[in-house]
Amino acid sequence: MLLGLVPSRNATAQDMQRVRQTVAYLASPKLHGRGYVQRGDRKAANYIRRRFEALKLEPLAPDYFQSFQLPVNTFPGKLQLTVGKHPLRAGVDFIAEPSSGPGRLRGPIVSLDTLIFTNEQAGYRFLTDSLRGRILVLRQRDAERIRTLPAAFERHLASAAARIVLVPDKLTASVTGQQAAQIRLQVLASRWPQQITPRTTVSLDVAAQLEASYTTQNVVAMVRGSVQPDSFLVVTAHYDHLGRMGKRAYFPGANDNASGTAMLLELAAYYAEHRPRYSVAFLAFGAEEAGLVGSRYFVQQPLKPLSSIRFLLNFDLEGTGQAGATVVNGRLHESEYQSLVRLNQQGKYLPDIAPRGRAANSDHYPFSEAGVPSFFVYLRGTPTHYHDVYDRAATLPLTGFQGIFRLATEFLNQLQEQR
Ligand SMILES: [Zn+2]
Repeated sequence: MLLGLVPSRNATAQDMQRVRQTVAYLASPKLHGRGYVQRGDRKAANYIRRRFEALKLEPLAPDYFQSFQLPVNTFPGKLQLTVGKHPLRAGVDFIAEPSSGPGRLRGPIVSLDTLIFTNEQAGYRFLTDSLRGRILVLRQRDAERIRTLPAAFERHLASAAARIVLVPDKLTASVTGQQAAQIRLQVLASRWPQQITPRTTVSLDVAAQLEASYTTQNVVAMVRGSVQPDSFLVVTAHYDHLGRMGKRAYFPGANDNASGTAMLLELAAYYAEHRPRYSVAFLAFGAEEAGLVGSRYFVQQPLKPLSSIRFLLNFDLEGTGQAGATVVNGRLHESEYQSLVRLNQQGKYLPDIAPRGRAANSDHYPFSEAGVPSFFVYLRGTPTHYHDVYDRAATLPLTGFQGIFRLATEFLNQLQEQR
């Protein structure tokens, strides 16, 4: 694939080479998906700290780390599923649901009788037939539809020893701090063997481990402003991702969010060289994927008063961009949004910019809720791998990266000229 690397005014091809290296390193198996197995999160944090140190940024916390704890369910060991004689591949054919419990099981499957949605007798049969020790298989749409039935149905579903949900399009992983008493797997429907009989034996082996209080960290630094050092512009991006699942599979998270982390590091390099009038803080958050845990923690324990933040820009999913960018909160901060659009028209950085309202979909949100004016800018385009094992550095085009970078610097510089 051609990458369309056009050398231009102030971001050079050399910069893009550094960006590609950053993304490739963060998304490499050495960093284990920047999650909670093999201390992938810590390796990524150490790397960001080294980059901050090299730029001589001022630490916002001792050794640049703001540590905090969270509960997290992990899959550090075996993750096996065999249907009849077919072993399925972890990461590719199936994954564990975030809340899956551990266990080893072998036996025939029970398929959900979809008559329960329309036939009272079938519903009664389902509720009175014990699922203890059994492996229940159902389609994703039925797993969702079951929530429309009385709560007893979902409770009964939870009494099965294992629950296998067949998903039609793609596997989508996540992270949670809870662990169920049940083994829970997501299987790609197209990889589920067709010729299953009541005698087909399924075997499952899942090592799930709940870490009740895992210590992770935000990596935080600033460049002190030359004129108004107590006024802040803030650049944020989460560096964590979903980690490993089983012995072989890991989630590279190139687009989500090695790309945004690279953006934060490039902006840090830019402001280390071009001393800003306001101070500019760089907050690389941990545990975003576990529910914005790092950014919520920062908002609760802000290292600078939140009221001193003039504006915050959050970067998450900056690896594509053929279709332009979306600005979350663009509809909230009208004048800042208009200046972003104007700068983009002048510089022709991105083919399109579209505003959105509020959305709790990344780390700007806890700040925004606390009254800090914030935009979350993400790029639209292909490939669209999301929370799966295919979100790799090698296939990330980085089409809009330079455009966003220049737009962001012009936007932040303009904010400092006002007043
Ligand atoms: Zn994500």
